[in-house]
Amino acid sequence: MMIYLDNAATTRPLDNVLQRMRTFYTQAYFNPSALYTPASRVADEIEKARAEICTELGGGGKVFFTSCATESNTWVFHSGVKNKKGNVVVSMGEHASVYENAQALLAKGIEVRFVRLTADGTVDIQDFLRKIDTNTTLVSVIHCSNETGAVNDLRILSKAVKNIAPRALFHSDGVQALGKIDVHCDDAGIDLYSMSAHKIGGVKGVGALWIRDGIRLQPLLLGGGQESGARSGTENVAGIVGFAEALQTYRHTDVETIRAMRTTVKQTLCDKCNVSVNESTQNSPFILSVSVPGVRAEILQRKLAEREILIGLGSACASRKKNNRVLEAMGRSMSHIEGSIRISFGIDNMQDDIGRAVNEIADCIQSFGR
Ligand code: PLP
Repeated sequence: MMIYLDNAATTRPLDNVLQRMRTFYTQAYFNPSALYTPASRVADEIEKARAEICTELGGGGKVFFTSCATESNTWVFHSGVKNKKGNVVVSMGEHASVYENAQALLAKGIEVRFVRLTADGTVDIQDFLRKIDTNTTLVSVIHCSNETGAVNDLRILSKAVKNIAPRALFHSDGVQALGKIDVHCDDAGIDLYSMSAHKIGGVKGVGALWIRDGIRLQPLLLGGGQESGARSGTENVAGIVGFAEALQTYRHTDVETIRAMRTTVKQTLCDKCNVSVNESTQNSPFILSVSVPGVRAEILQRKLAEREILIGLGSACASRKKNNRVLEAMGRSMSHIEGSIRISFGIDNMQDDIGRAVNEIADCIQSFGR
């Protein structure tokens, strides 16, 4: 039996999610903008999903649906920087969909300041404070790292930003945190929060951006005026309804079981293979990043796949690139980076034989002479 341990890349769409979505393909397939009653009922389902996701984020503000978190992040960088004279502050720990947008601003001549990470993968607060000033217009810090699972304290960071630059927008990429790590956007001082359905048992191609009340972003997509004019394009109704359903399921997951699986894998790999763990004291229980210096992670991944154990190599999107920007920013050596694997858990793993998986991983690592 295959054991899938790359849930930070994507998750299997949950059965209850697919079941809920099916109606919107087979019966309630109407365009939610149409004026007849069956279509209005479809529009009502979108509003229900919006309200449910908003409640999970602590209430207040509004959720706008997009095609993916990459779109949500791009929207923020496209529209959140109004003043070309100001500066933008971004952490070195961001996913490519933030980092590359920051690079695009740089190319347009906007000053972008990159904040260092500490060795545990969280934002270096001293460096963060040095980089913010009264001209800062946008700040972006990932909530939970897709590479290591390190969790940043958004409340402390946003407070520091508002003290120095009260008008700056504070954005966070919440893709790996949603449904897994509690967040109250309004209370935590967050202005914009990006999300994606397929990391929590929803389907690919559905994302969202939470926007604090009183903030208006210029639309990225213009057209029919859907999403209150903020994001045109006929809504992915089934995907949106499925997103809310998936979030409810993940929210009620027994996180302690996931944490126990992570601890078992971590302890076994430390004891048997002397791996070094890339983690912070506040780490997601869903992600375990370990380095095995001297071992080529791609080869390890391939050998494990032959044994039907699927693991990741840092970020899936970056896995074709040789370097790993985030581990590099954490000060890891080249041999650590080349030997880094990411084992990430999901709800499905609760039924899996994690003991077998970890023994296979340890055995494979040992076959490299470790
Ligand atoms: N942000 C983070 C932290 C991610 O892990 C990912 C997915 O890999 C994304 C953004 C992009 O999400 P999507 O696939 O919905 O564009």
